[in-house]
Amino acid sequence: MSLYITSLNSGSNGNCYYIGNDEEAIFVDAGISCRETEKRMARLGLQMKKVKAIFISHEHGDHIAGLPVLAKKYQLPVYITAGTLEEGRLQLSAEQVIAFEAYKPIQIGGLSVTAFPKFHDAADPHSFVVSSPSVRVGVFTDIGKPCDHLITHFQHCHAAFLETNYDEDMLMNGRYPPMLKNRIRGGHGHLSNIQALELFKKYRPTFMSHLLLSHLSKDNNNPQLVRDLFEQHTSSTSIIVASRFAETELYHIRSSGEELSEITRPVERLVTVAAAKTPPTPRQQQLSLF
Ligand SMILES: [Zn+2]
Ligand SMILES: [Zn+2]
Repeated sequence: MSLYITSLNSGSNGNCYYIGNDEEAIFVDAGISCRETEKRMARLGLQMKKVKAIFISHEHGDHIAGLPVLAKKYQLPVYITAGTLEEGRLQLSAEQVIAFEAYKPIQIGGLSVTAFPKFHDAADPHSFVVSSPSVRVGVFTDIGKPCDHLITHFQHCHAAFLETNYDEDMLMNGRYPPMLKNRIRGGHGHLSNIQALELFKKYRPTFMSHLLLSHLSKDNNNPQLVRDLFEQHTSSTSIIVASRFAETELYHIRSSGEELSEITRPVERLVTVAAAKTPPTPRQQQLSLF
């Protein structure tokens, strides 16, 4: 069964990714307002009633700002870890909240959603892969550095939202204070264009049909520059830049004709997760810096 995907918005001003089949869909993150989410869905001809659940990657405001209103209005279950819920100080009704665990697939109708941990400056951050029986899509943003988990999952995706947050030169020559530059590029911030490109060049599966470059910095990146960079290295994967101002088109991701292969869990899981813990930063700073 094929999947349909779109980015309703992508960037430090709000993230919301839609992945669905003909019957049902999920959102990964709800970082734009409920009204804006509805508007963009309608423009794409997508119905809100198809959305059956929201999965939350981490508690930064650009991933949860629209969540309380959206979840309440549509009575949607919210899949979120206890750490993210607590740190996000979210007002959600208890019966809507469902905890998830890394590597334990959750079935939403014909969709299977699996989370795995990532390096990011947040309480309990996760990436997601969403599968139908024959197609797999990854949502990989807000990642400090690539780890074995990311590499393993990326290699199995027919399409992926992959963070290309900043151009190294633009960041280093830009106006951000040194402390912020270091947080962004220090291993628990965001993926640079080059880090994402290395991952793509080395680990892109031949069946990856679409790559949506995501979470671009407004100040430290340029959509044309990053598109050109990736297009030099691909002929068979469509490169799309997800906008921080509008929804992308709706993309139809088709099966490569093979059965989905089982993803083996990387052995260094515990080390990775333990290493991902960083000293807490003031909440105000946390929300505004990225
Ligand atoms: Zn973010
Ligand atoms: Zn974040």
